[in-house]
Amino acid sequence: MAHKRVLPSTRNASPTSDLYTDIVEVRVGKDSNTSSSYLHSGLVSFYSGYFQAALSGNFVESKSRVIELPEESDEVFTRFRTWLYTNRIDVPARDDRSSYSEIIALWSFADRREIPLLMNECINAVRDELVRTWKVPTKYLRQIYDTTTPQAGMRRLVIQLMAGTWDASKMEGERERGQMIEAALWDIVIAVWKLKDDKCGRMLKADVVKMDLCEYHVHEEGVRCGKPA
Ligand SMILES: [Zn+2]
Repeated sequence: MAHKRVLPSTRNASPTSDLYTDIVEVRVGKDSNTSSSYLHSGLVSFYSGYFQAALSGNFVESKSRVIELPEESDEVFTRFRTWLYTNRIDVPARDDRSSYSEIIALWSFADRREIPLLMNECINAVRDELVRTWKVPTKYLRQIYDTTTPQAGMRRLVIQLMAGTWDASKMEGERERGQMIEAALWDIVIAVWKLKDDKCGRMLKADVVKMDLCEYHVHEEGVRCGKPA
């Protein structure tokens, strides 16, 4: 792994045309539910440390040009493939908060497959979803706590957004109570106390828009996203 190239975590570096030559077959799913996709191996290696390792060196995959991902879902993989070729996260805007679940699942895929830029763009997408809907993803706390570590940017961001934008009236609802999980509650309380220490009791929409998301991104030492205009 010593020769591993630095993976892009911002859009400052773009893939070059020579990355669009070789093709790799990716088989997603198990047994009869397997579906095949064909990706440009240079392109997928440009963004993903997992594919980079699998497609270079002496791994079986690098010779057969077939990568099997039995534990991934077709839905998440398709979303990754769309992102790879369009630079966009293709999650439809809905009113029922389910978009959060899909973005969180894509972030987890990017985490497993070492794709820092996609992880970072999923972080941005969660923030944008909150600004759009002004609803926090309480319903998906279980998913977040099951699929992320305590230090994970996605977990920290969602906790910060819940701590900063929720108010007591929302916490009193029976549905919210039913969706809350104990580990998250403790993290939210700590985040609320920190906001108090910062003399920032409540985050308004304008505060959420202005957040420095690099705190939740994955970057090499010294790398930051460009300041939004
Ligand atoms: Zn950043």
